[in-house]
Amino acid sequence: MSEKQHADLVVIGAGPGGYAAAFRAADLGRSVVLVDARVTLGGVCLNEGCIPSKALLHAARVLHEADNIGEWGISFGKAKIDIDALRKRKEAIVSQLTTGLAQLARRRKVRCVAGRAVFTGIDELAVSGTGAEERWSFGQAIVAAGSSPVRLPGWPEDDRIWDSTAALELRAVPRRLAIVGGGIIGLEMATIYAALGSSVTVIELADQVAPGAEPDAAELVRASLKARGCGIHVATRVVAVAASASEVTLLCEGGFVGEVAADAVIQAVGRRANGGAVGAQAAGLAIEANGVIPVDSQCRTNRANIFAVGDITGAPMLAHRATHQGKVAAEVASGHAAAFDTAFIPSIAYTDPELAWVGPTTAQLKSAGIPFKVSRFPWAASGRNLASGGSDGQTMLIHSPDNLRLLGATVVGPGAGELLAAIGVALEMGSTISDIALTVHAHPTLSETVAFAAERALGTLTDLYQHS
Ligand SMILES: Cc1cc2nc3c(=O)[nH]c(=O)nc-3n(C[C@H](O)[C@H](O)[C@H](O)COP(=O)(O)OP(=O)(O)OC[C@H]3O[C@@H](n4cnc5c(N)ncnc54)[C@H](O)[C@@H]3O)c2cc1C
Repeated sequence: MSEKQHADLVVIGAGPGGYAAAFRAADLGRSVVLVDARVTLGGVCLNEGCIPSKALLHAARVLHEADNIGEWGISFGKAKIDIDALRKRKEAIVSQLTTGLAQLARRRKVRCVAGRAVFTGIDELAVSGTGAEERWSFGQAIVAAGSSPVRLPGWPEDDRIWDSTAALELRAVPRRLAIVGGGIIGLEMATIYAALGSSVTVIELADQVAPGAEPDAAELVRASLKARGCGIHVATRVVAVAASASEVTLLCEGGFVGEVAADAVIQAVGRRANGGAVGAQAAGLAIEANGVIPVDSQCRTNRANIFAVGDITGAPMLAHRATHQGKVAAEVASGHAAAFDTAFIPSIAYTDPELAWVGPTTAQLKSAGIPFKVSRFPWAASGRNLASGGSDGQTMLIHSPDNLRLLGATVVGPGAGELLAAIGVALEMGSTISDIALTVHAHPTLSETVAFAAERALGTLTDLYQHS
């Protein structure tokens, strides 16, 4: 065992929360040690989440567009997919980004240590990697150890049963693929594998796909997947699973009653915070039964010198939330006034069409008893959408009837996620729908649909006929 070393500030986990925290702290003059169990930086997001999924979704979109350009008088013939080349391309993108992060760490003199960190007591931890175990004491720590996929209990060990990490390895394109869970990750996997040629069935326990999103917007995504040949069973529970030599069979009850036979199954039923994986108790850290380390708005845990950020602090488990929290933790730990206090964290399913929302949904406003009004602009009336071969979509704004203040928004359509940025700024600035309607939006753009939805709420829209 090596001699104990000391870190001024140690960050555990180099995902979007951890590397943002480490880099911001280094920029503030701190001496930082960044520990991650994997050799590359970037965490789940870069290595096995956000980035590889978006690379494959890009390929899926190109395949779909090429398949559907026939009515424009263009045909490419049947696409040939070289799965090994596609996998290599995806890996090259991931590697470019993780290598870039390593360079950024070097330039900031952040010391990166590869190994699994476990608290061994108050203000000390052990790191076990490939070499001898290292022992560290620390002045402050930021825990950013992320989350892991939830495994359904009672399922057999079988290499045809994948989690999202295995699915993104692109081991094979199964002829029949069942996806248990129709949330954002499940829907993105369905979009990818349907484009690559799998016959996909999605099984979702809630009564809509993308639970938590506006039902009519989620319905547009369901309809699009259905049109691509995907079977979608909502309000359906998998009650038994059997693996034979030739297939994996799921027995379903509820909205769909019967069996779904598949050559591979993806479990996409959520993620669990990794609080149990860092020896939290040894450091005296409070930890909830679901693995979450609770924090306040300054990302402080119950221990004055230990902070936590990202997925390990609970929902919403999103990279951009982790990054913002990481910066807050680094700033607070370095004596600056900072806090993470926003209700506006955008959610995006990068499906085709994309489904994007920010702020409270109508269901959340209803249950909170907050009065609201909704206005929609259908993308069937958007010149830019039609001229770009776009699919069904809509822009929906929610505002307060009392003062016209924007409360939230949902956009569904190609590129919807990018439109959310301007809406997010409007929400943070406390804009009214008049502010949005009176802002000149360029024509023809998809961003116009936001202004049109605002105009529709005010009764000033000319691009649709509205009778009173
Ligand atoms: C398939 C998929 C697609 C996704 N797509 C998106 C998306 O498009 N947009 C989005 O916002 N979010 C997306 N997410 C979620 C996003 O990846 C996470 O919210 C984000 O990575 C969380 O960042 P984090 O810093 O909290 O932790 P993570 O990224 O989970 O990183 C935690 C790191 O800690 C390390 N670690 C864990 N325990 C220890 C230990 N004891 N010692 C040392 N190191 C340890 C792990 O090796 C890991 O590298 C996706 C997730 C998945 C699975």
